[in-house]
Amino acid sequence: MIICKYEVTFYNFVIYMCVKPEFDFYRETIFMDEKLNLTEPLKRYFGFDTFKGDQEAIIRNVLAGKDTFVLMPTGGGKSLCYQLPSLLMEGTAIVISPLIALMKNQVDAIRQVCNDEGVAHFINSSLNKSAIDQVKADILEGKTKLLYVAPESLTKEENVDFLRQVKISFYAVDEAHCISQWGHDFRPEYVQLGVLHECFPNIPVMALTATADKVTKSDIIDRLHLKEPLLFVSSFDRPNLSLDVRRGYSAKEKLQTILNIIDRHPQESGIIYCMTRKETEALSQRLCAEKVSVGAYHAGMSMTVRNQVQENFLKGRIQVVVATVAFGMGIDKSNVRFVIHYNLPKSIESFYQEIGRG
Ligand code: ADP
Repeated sequence: MIICKYEVTFYNFVIYMCVKPEFDFYRETIFMDEKLNLTEPLKRYFGFDTFKGDQEAIIRNVLAGKDTFVLMPTGGGKSLCYQLPSLLMEGTAIVISPLIALMKNQVDAIRQVCNDEGVAHFINSSLNKSAIDQVKADILEGKTKLLYVAPESLTKEENVDFLRQVKISFYAVDEAHCISQWGHDFRPEYVQLGVLHECFPNIPVMALTATADKVTKSDIIDRLHLKEPLLFVSSFDRPNLSLDVRRGYSAKEKLQTILNIIDRHPQESGIIYCMTRKETEALSQRLCAEKVSVGAYHAGMSMTVRNQVQENFLKGRIQVVVATVAFGMGIDKSNVRFVIHYNLPKSIESFYQEIGRG
């Protein structure tokens, strides 16, 4: 058992997308002056005094209309790298994300920051037609700076038609490792995104991920057809994490060890990763019997139940989630103080990805 605890001091596109739009807005996009002061909008919109890591250089590259590849650990501040330029540029930035359950939170946060309901929207399978029509009306009126779209929604014919009428500032492909078959989270719907740049060569594309080895990184760049992208690879050292490995115990001792850790973190959250769905459910039931406020999460559960567990965890209604690797991508929760690997993770990359949730 590996315990990682945190002592926190702190394609359809196919031919369709390839039809050139009647109005090629994109050639008209005015990119920003490289000397533009970015600290002021950083403070005004997000309340931060300084940029974290490579954020400013990344944002300047996007503002200059260039392709960008960002490899930054979880918690490194990737969202701001597309949110801030979207607010400064003409047109609407399209953020492609697989994390449907988290889109609403992100959109709400930006609306709050800008005190404007129309400034950010999402389109995914959770919206009915009239809600989608309202979103599209706001975009066409030029109110919307940021649109989150699930990859499968982006490639729907009616949405493709719609986007041909929109002035797009740039595309941001979040969780970009999902396009690579070498990555551990490959999603077939991401493959369709490869035509974005072929069809809209003048719209910059930004790829962001927290997890890509060398092969995955080149695969993402090839598949998204990024043109001479600037690469930003941040340090993966996380000085606020402390790692601890324990010798395999009997099931009973393992359970007791876990309970002790949970006890040490009252009012704080944690995630326990298991290898199989069955094990996930069994451990969750055992913890429940010990009065731990816990939920199970794995890909065999219905989307509704999964979303509920995730939402309960994010809102602090449950303290612990026992999950397979299906859980955790994009989780932005400020009090995840321990991650326990009940079994040895599949690879070092999975291990790093999972501890990243702390
Ligand atoms: P990632 O997507 O890389 O996991 P997030 O975009 O969720 O990271 O950001 C992680 C945390 O860092 C968030 O709570 C965010 O508000 C905070 N953050 C982002 N940029 C800054 C900054 N320049 N200064 C301080 N905090 C920041």
